[in-house]
Amino acid sequence: MGAIAGIKSIQFPPLADKTLSQLRQQRYRASGLRPARWLPRAGRGLMGAMKALRFYEPGKVAVVDVADPAASPGEVILRVHATGLCNSDVRVFLGEKKAVAGVIPGHEIAGEVVTVGRGARATVGDVVSLCPILCCGRCSFCREGYRNRCPSRRTLGYDLDGGIAEYLRVPPELVSLGHLLPMEPATPPHLRALLEPFACVLNSIVSLNVQAGAPMAIVGGGPMGLLHLIAGRAWGAGPILVAEPDEHRRAVARELGADIVATPEEAPALGRDATHGEGFPAVAVAVGLAPALPLALDLARRLGWINLFAGFPPASTHTLDLNRVHYDEVRILGTQNAPFGLYARAAALIPRLPALDRVVTNRYALPDAADAYTARLGREGLKSAVLM
Ligand SMILES: [Zn+2]
Ligand SMILES: [Zn+2]
Repeated sequence: MGAIAGIKSIQFPPLADKTLSQLRQQRYRASGLRPARWLPRAGRGLMGAMKALRFYEPGKVAVVDVADPAASPGEVILRVHATGLCNSDVRVFLGEKKAVAGVIPGHEIAGEVVTVGRGARATVGDVVSLCPILCCGRCSFCREGYRNRCPSRRTLGYDLDGGIAEYLRVPPELVSLGHLLPMEPATPPHLRALLEPFACVLNSIVSLNVQAGAPMAIVGGGPMGLLHLIAGRAWGAGPILVAEPDEHRRAVARELGADIVATPEEAPALGRDATHGEGFPAVAVAVGLAPALPLALDLARRLGWINLFAGFPPASTHTLDLNRVHYDEVRILGTQNAPFGLYARAAALIPRLPALDRVVTNRYALPDAADAYTARLGREGLKSAVLM
């Protein structure tokens, strides 16, 4: 590790001899989990029944017939057009994150209003995507606009049925909070389903104080890292570095306009070259593995921000040279989901960013929804979406 101009070089624990992707693969293989398709592939739902994917317990998801949802007062029924599979859905499948047994997963939902319950403010035919959060509306977080940090928060796809289904009953709280956001109908469904993940990325970009004309680094070139790249470019940040062990993902990052694409091992030296030895004022960590943190610290400029964007396996810890925080005033934060205001901005940006299409590589019909898990677990392609 070379010296940063004018200051003593600081040693961080080197990346383990295994690359980040090898670690992830190893974790998957050790889990022994494989998604199972329990029922034979069937056509559309029976009369009064629909097809939906259910999560039963870690390692068990299946497409089944469930009753069509009906709208009670205040509720809305959506015909789901597309639902994205998030890495956090995969973490639920692996037992790293909690969800209610029997729940229909999927919180990245795009659809169309088909039934409006009495008193619900929506119109049949509205093309919408969701902010999947239900919150109390009374706590200090809700009052400050941070509904995503409400202690009583519940989320579709984890606590209540989500969108990997033909239809979705939208709870009255979610309708009255205004969490059905109108989307441009001409935008393809798999891109409208990016509303929630893209709002999360905008929260990361805003929290990192990404600036036009200022460098930015992204650790991890998976779907969320690449969404950071697309958002960072839209923000005017540059040069943008993407550190990613997988060659194919590095190629996509290059195609999407990253200025510097590097393996995690090469990234610190290339990053210093690109920033006059100073490092990056904004570093997004879009991979939930502890060895990503020392790399992020190595990439960060004095006074720089590091955002732990990805969730980590439970009880992940890492030692840290505290003087990097004290003397260099490096600031480490985390973001999870997004304040509601950023959803509206994401809805406005999505139709204007055609590069987003490059990230949703794997698309599945609902009867094959379990294959979306298999693809993500096997790191085939980038983001997966289920199209209804
Ligand atoms: Zn998500
Ligand atoms: Zn609250």
